[in-house]
Amino acid sequence: MSTSLTSTPERAASLIERINSVKSNIQELGAASRTRLVAVSKFKQASDIQTLYDQGQRHFGENYMQELTEKANLLPKDICWHFIGGLQSNKCKDLAAIENIWAVETIDSEKKAKKLDVARAGKSKINVFIQVNTSGEDQKSGLNPGAETVKLAKFIELECPNLTLAGLMTIGSLKNSASNEENQDFKKLTEAKSLVESELGLSELELSIGMSSDYKEAIRQGSTNIRVGSYIFGAR
Ligand SMILES: *Cc1c(COP(=O)(O)O)cnc(C)c1O
Repeated sequence: MSTSLTSTPERAASLIERINSVKSNIQELGAASRTRLVAVSKFKQASDIQTLYDQGQRHFGENYMQELTEKANLLPKDICWHFIGGLQSNKCKDLAAIENIWAVETIDSEKKAKKLDVARAGKSKINVFIQVNTSGEDQKSGLNPGAETVKLAKFIELECPNLTLAGLMTIGSLKNSASNEENQDFKKLTEAKSLVESELGLSELELSIGMSSDYKEAIRQGSTNIRVGSYIFGAR
């Protein structure tokens, strides 16, 4: 990774145009006050992130521990980092060591939640999203949307004082994303959210749904946290 924090003027213009287009779409959907835009910067240069930071963007998403650690060291300390990659329990400690980690969106076991919680003692709380496998595809990570998700949500609420249960996250199938109708994965996640809220007596959990190709539909279906990468930064 280059440690330069300066983009060429052409690159900067492209990044700014793209992120502004996402923002105006959010506004047109009347969702500006409830939608957090996470710019997913995996494999992209630190200079890209700095350029968007200079435009006021604060939430960035990364998938790989080492890359996140390097970028977090190099870039401004008030960036709100989201870890959105596959999480291994032996990496929870490294994740908790990043001062400005803001959210971990891929929690899928009590073991990982506890490791993250213990390692975070004495620092600001981390927002966590439970990753749910709404499509039932074997290759997708995440818990089933029923009892498993409720159980982990209870565990986080009751046993993890250094974590905040922020909500649920899903990736969903390509097929459901490409369909022109209501996205069935987003619908299932919304139902799982209602179930968790009623079982735990909570309200207002978040939905982390929507990527480059389907974030508008995700917003229509109630997303509060969209994760947009390639549309802003270009193909990876
Ligand atoms: C890479 C990634 C994204 C961004 O996907 P794009 O299609 O590039 O917008 C969003 N969420 C997760 C979990 C990812 O791994």
